[in-house]
Amino acid sequence: MKKNEVHNLARTSIAQLQPYSSARDEFTDFELDMVFLDANENPFSTDVNRYPDPQQRDVKSLLAAQKGITASKILLGNGSDEVLDLLFRAFCEPNVDNVITLPPTYGMYKVLADINAIENREVLLSTNFEPKVLEILKIQDEKSKLLFLCSPNNPTGNTFSEASILRLLEEFNGLVVIDEAYIDFSETDSWLNKLKKYHNLVITQTLSKAYGMAGIRLGICYASEEIIALLNKIKPPYNINELTQQRAFERLVNIEDVSNEVEHILEEKTSVSKQLLEIPFIEKIYPSEANFILVKVDDATKRYTQLLKQGIVVRNRSNQPLCENTLRLTIGTSAENKKLIKSLQKII
Ligand SMILES: *Cc1c(COP(=O)(O)O)cnc(C)c1O
Repeated sequence: MKKNEVHNLARTSIAQLQPYSSARDEFTDFELDMVFLDANENPFSTDVNRYPDPQQRDVKSLLAAQKGITASKILLGNGSDEVLDLLFRAFCEPNVDNVITLPPTYGMYKVLADINAIENREVLLSTNFEPKVLEILKIQDEKSKLLFLCSPNNPTGNTFSEASILRLLEEFNGLVVIDEAYIDFSETDSWLNKLKKYHNLVITQTLSKAYGMAGIRLGICYASEEIIALLNKIKPPYNINELTQQRAFERLVNIEDVSNEVEHILEEKTSVSKQLLEIPFIEKIYPSEANFILVKVDDATKRYTQLLKQGIVVRNRSNQPLCENTLRLTIGTSAENKKLIKSLQKII
């Protein structure tokens, strides 16, 4: 896809939109000792009496440096769920356009399609949880605007083959959104270094999983400057609050804490996987490049309830296609994982 073709993909009303310009958009030069009487704020300090930076420059510049990308290719959202919603609203005309999703996968794509009145064309993953490339390409038409690839995939835990993703990037005629919520747990490289080559590539990441900041709600979108500019036009001006920006900044400054925790979680995952092998009613442990493990059991509802009675909450994924009788187990602390294994052994 060429650069200018991206613009043609956008909804006409969005491409033509004159966005709201906030007080903080119009004047940003905080270097000088300025008196700010432009935004009707209360002048007495509460530490948060001022509106936050609508472009989140501090957080973005740290991210940009760490990821080796320019800040103009980054958009931040109130969780990646907001980023995904912005993509729908910028590119999908209600009751006209469609998107393609690949169940079993993250449930929000379908919900967002429903909210935005967009047809959701589903192409099930293969039995080894890989995209069926030919079927996807066959089902697309000129109204197919977004294709969602979750890799590593939730709830299956695998990453999709590089060859499949490359072919979809080459031949899908809309935007290919790769949801990398779990990429920091994976051996596989992020698709970030392919942004220059593929103008239809959109990558979402989040501080909710590996970064340990689900509570502050910070999602990240990486894409071409053209796509980011379109999304910037429609995002709420102050969508990332001041406290979130501060906490995200502090976490990103101490990025080696994140790596250490990830390493620890991965060690725990190896150890949990080994012990799960010894549980007779666990029939299959799916390979995982994320911070959770999907297991097939004899009777998921029964085992889910038994764990619950012992105070352990896991996710029953049985209602998802290709996932009958599966439970998704998040890797916790060493003590939590020990408790999980003990409880599973007790059930026997
Ligand atoms: C958890 C998760 C997210 C995170 O969403 P946030 O809104 O950033 O918390 C996104 N995508 C997938 C596949 C997830 O599992």
